[in-house]
Amino acid sequence: MPFEALGLDPKIAKAVREAGYTEPTPIQTKAIPLVLRGSDVIGIAQTGTGKTAAFVLPILQRLSTKGSATNRRCMRALVIAPTRELVVQIEENARKYARHLHLRIATVYGGVGERPQIQALRAGTEIVIATPGRLIDLMDQGHVDFSGLEVAVLDEADRMLDMGFLPAMRRIVKALPKQRQTMMFSATLSKEIETLTNEFLVNAEIVQVGRRANPAETVAQFVYETTKEAKLPLLLHLLGDANLDSVLVFSRTKHGADKIARKLASSGINTATLHSNRSQSQRIAALKAFKAGTVRVLVATDIAARGIDVEGISHVVNFDFPPQPEDYVHRIGRTGRAKAIGDAISFVTPDDRANLRDLEQFISRGIPRKVAEGFDASAYKAVAPTMTSWRPSRPARPAAPRPQRPNTYASSRPASGSRPPAGGNGRTAVNSRPQFSDRTRRRP
Ligand code: ADP
Ligand code: MG
Repeated sequence: MPFEALGLDPKIAKAVREAGYTEPTPIQTKAIPLVLRGSDVIGIAQTGTGKTAAFVLPILQRLSTKGSATNRRCMRALVIAPTRELVVQIEENARKYARHLHLRIATVYGGVGERPQIQALRAGTEIVIATPGRLIDLMDQGHVDFSGLEVAVLDEADRMLDMGFLPAMRRIVKALPKQRQTMMFSATLSKEIETLTNEFLVNAEIVQVGRRANPAETVAQFVYETTKEAKLPLLLHLLGDANLDSVLVFSRTKHGADKIARKLASSGINTATLHSNRSQSQRIAALKAFKAGTVRVLVATDIAARGIDVEGISHVVNFDFPPQPEDYVHRIGRTGRAKAIGDAISFVTPDDRANLRDLEQFISRGIPRKVAEGFDASAYKAVAPTMTSWRPSRPARPAAPRPQRPNTYASSRPASGSRPPAGGNGRTAVNSRPQFSDRTRRRP
């Protein structure tokens, strides 16, 4: 079915064709006509199913055909997304789809200067894509005028809840005109998401594609049973296979990510890291190099990588097995996106076995175990007779207090509410700590 059949303007359909899309994805087919009709929509579909275009295309149509009520230039559509990377990604998509239209698009996120963002808001940009933290900062400073707003989108709503953005979302939505169209997108439909739907949306149409918590069908999944000590050598061994040409490696912690990256880099593998201790420009550069293929391995933590869309990731490696089944589903959604075939590899240590069982129950299927050919895991076993704790025992830390952790949003899975609502994305100094902590450096 061509995009025009959904009721989209030929100019928009043309841009979509030029982006290489031949037909709408299922979520787009279902959601676009409803959104065009002006309904509030809650869209549930796993990652990589094309949710961005499902809301951006009808928004472009609305903004390009109907003039705003007062005919003044102002913010008419607002998209909220949990991370800067997602904001940038949505912006890139929106610019692609809007290339034959005359609409202005601006982004608002932390870690970069406020001034250009304020200027863009002042100039009356029609489409604003923002993280909650910086948007609230600018609202508090009086730079945001929502009076002409017609459409609001909450993207990755489930993640925003996980990240403690509920109070921020409430503040933003409360500031919007009551008369508006609201959309919410999420990979999973939980009780909390349903509650939000009732709070933010009116008579919402639910559009759901695929079963709940179903990992991308196209991804081949394997488990390697290993030990903590053998993980790095195993990863290096697997990377000896040139078929792993664009690999996203997930680490539980930022320090772990740095450690993996250093090891790979010292073995001559082009590696970059993506986590919240990197500055915004470092993160953008890392993603760019990974997308361009100059970096073969990107080592990331969950939060930094959520929702990131990189075409042609060949493999996802769960270096650290995710304790939450939902995170597994999101991680492996990074490969096999939009019909490409990818592999998801998970390292499972004895400590992870219970989590693996939970996951297999969650996705209602077993994951095949694989043995690395030509890899002698026993060579690394002797180092660790006991594997009960994450860190091998070592001398107690010196009494000097560690500097307080900056309250970045990437500290691993904070209990909801443990982070100040507006601080997560904007004001925290992501640059303030060295890339490798002292602790990591001292480790043998
Ligand atoms: P989601 O938000 O559901 O995780 P995205 O909107 O990021 O997914 O889209 C995933 C990928 O699929 C992107 O690379 C996007 O360009 C591509 N894509 C989106 N719609 C289509 C389509 N109709 N045909 C082909 N590729 C598409
Ligand atoms: Mg998305």
